[in-house]
Formats: sequence, structure tokens, C-alpha cells
Amino acid sequence: MSRAAVSNGKGVLYVVATPIGNLEDLTPRAKRILASVDLVAAEDTRHSRRMLRHHGIERSLVSLHEHNERQVMQRVIDQLESGRSVALISDAGTPLISDPGFPLVRECHRRGIRVSPVPGPSALVAALSVSGLPTDRFCFHGFLPRQQAARRERLEQLRGEPATLVFYESSHRIAGSLADMAEILGADRPACLARELTKQHEEILPAPLGELAGVVATDPLRRKGEFVVMVGTAPEAGRSQRMQEADRVLELLLEELPLRQAVALASRITGENRNRLYEQALENKNPG
Ligand code: SAM
Repeated sequence: MSRAAVSNGKGVLYVVATPIGNLEDLTPRAKRILASVDLVAAEDTRHSRRMLRHHGIERSLVSLHEHNERQVMQRVIDQLESGRSVALISDAGTPLISDPGFPLVRECHRRGIRVSPVPGPSALVAALSVSGLPTDRFCFHGFLPRQQAARRERLEQLRGEPATLVFYESSHRIAGSLADMAEILGADRPACLARELTKQHEEILPAPLGELAGVVATDPLRRKGEFVVMVGTAPEAGRSQRMQEADRVLELLLEELPLRQAVALASRITGENRNRLYEQALENKNPG
């Protein structure tokens, strides 16, 4: 049994963040925990073994990825139930952030197994911290749907979201996604593209969406690597005009429909945030 902490006679599941590019970004605490647990559950064991070896760590690894997650979970749970401690890592960054691990963490909570975070890199936070876009309110949407129709529909739903939007994207789809974002969210929306963070070809491109879509469409080098796309809220003038339109649609629907139905429909028609419309509808009903 390892030197890692044991709680209630059960082991601890450590959820450990690992580098998103630069291997020096593994924290000293992550190193100590990874070197002391009985088992490391990793997405791609070959990739993770290389990363661990780089830090002089040799541990037994079990592969836990999106296709075998439920089967392997039982094996990991058995280890934890018998007092052994396990570290969950993914190929890069923080597990569960667009990465496997959610069913395992939920099952640990269900069984009273302690789950402890070992925080560190995540492309989401790293990108936001350098984007120059507002970070007081942001909404993470992971990867957009692969199919263009579904992707465009999702973007339509997000048009009125009053927060900085954050997406992960791959090199295969970055050009198409940026083109759709510029068309649906608005070419003048402030945005930032973070490419290959912490790696040799790191690039942070703050520019309106239309410009970003153009740059990526015309330069094949800019389509290489891993990406985080961040989109700020619509410029104030356009936004308030859209809000006024949404309020007018809401007012008309409220004349014909019950409040909830009117709000839902107005939100679908205009892309405006449902909660804001709900508050507006209550205000219309009880002015002052
Ligand atoms: N769990 C990871 C995290 O905490 O960031 C994310 C895993 S997800 C499967 C992989 C995606 O994260 C990539 O397609 C890319 O969108 C983003 N990503 C990961 N590393 C990155 C990097 N170094 N630079 C930019 N984006 C990155």
C-alpha cells in the first residue's frame, strides 16, 4: 500500500492536472502524489508513461479512456475500496475538462471515497488569462458539434449569452468553426485565438471574429496545433438594439401566451438569454 493518504480505510482518488505542452508545468505536488499512489489511471498509457519517466516516476498504469471508462472504472473502484490510492490523469491538462473521469468521480462520491484535486494546467484557464477579454463572467462550451448544421444551431443558441464564450477546437475544424462563428455571432465581435499554449509555436491572436476567420482561412500554418477560441460579448450598441428587439417580440408574445411559454419562444426567436427575458417579463407584468 502506498504512502498516499487513506481515508475511512478507503483509498483516495487524486484528480491530477498535468502539462498542456511544456513538461515543466507539472507542479511539485503533482509529482509527489504521482510518485506515491498505487495506481495511475491515464487516458493513453504510452503517452503518460513518457511524461512520468521524464520526471523520474515509475508507477503502474491502467488505461481509462472514453471508450472503456465504465469497464475500467470498476477495477479502479476496487483498488480504492481496498485502501489503495489512485491518481487520475488525462493526456493533457485537467481531467474531466473535455476529458474522461466524470463517471469515476461521481461513483467515488456515491461510495464515500475521498476525491482530492491536485490543481495545475488547463488550456481553458491558461487561454482566458491572456485573452484580454472579460473574465468576470465566462461560459465554457468545450468542443462544438462536429456536424456543421448542429454546430451552427449551437452557435445560434449562444448568440445572446452575456458572457465571454470559450471553445476548444481541433486543427481539422478550426477554419470552419471560426467562419461559422463570424457569420452567426458577428464578424465584429471581439475575440481571441490561443494556439499551441506553452509550446514552441505558441500564439495569442486577439482580433474581431471576422479577422480571425480570415487569417486562419488564408494561412495553413495557423490551422496547425491545438486551439482555444474565446469570444467576447457583442459590442454594446448592437447588443442594446438586439435587446430592444427581443423585448418587443416578448411583449407581443405575452399578449397571446402564458409567461413561461412567451419567454421560451422569444428566446428561441431572438437568441436572447432566457433568464434576462424572464426577468423582463416579470417586470412587464408587475411594473414598478
Ligand atoms: N483537459 C484538457 C484541459 O484541461 O485543457 C483539455 C483536453 S481536450 C481533449 C483537448 C483540447 O484542449 C484541444 O483540442 C484544444 O482545444 C485544447 N488544448 C489542449 N492543450 C492546448 C494547448 N497547449 N494550446 C491550446 N489549446 C489546447
